Amino acid sequence: MPKPGFKSITVSENIYKKFFEVYEKNRKGLELKGIMSFSGYLTSRMEEMMIKDEVFAKHSPFIEKIAVDQNRVILKDNKKNRIAEVLMNNGELQCLLDDGRSDCVHVGFVYSLPELYGIISSKGINVPRSTHMR
Ligand SMILES: [Zn+2]
Repeated sequence: MPKPGFKSITVSENIYKKFFEVYEKNRKGLELKGIMSFSGYLTSRMEEMMIKDEVFAKHSPFIEKIAVDQNRVILKDNKKNRIAEVLMNNGELQCLLDDGRSDCVHVGFVYSLPELYGIISSKGINVPRSTHMR
């Protein structure tokens, strides 16, 4: 039973193991940040995720995902009221709506899609990832 003011949840062993491995690997660094336990680590990750989601919701409410293909992602830009197509080209993402740019909001949006990581693993695209995911 959790302490008053706390709730417990059940996760699959697989997920637990994955997170626990990362926690174990980064234990020293986490202690420096004041994270002394596995549940403290999960709490901090969840908070991080909430912040990211909030930032995301604030900055990109005008972009919607339409479809994810083998080597392209179709988005709808509700601000411009246009369809944006982001292509994977030689290991780089390019936005057709912005003349092939790789640093526009649409490309940024695609980088934040979990589906992209499935495409990358089959295509071998290099994406900057946060260090603790390694
Ligand atoms: Zn774009």
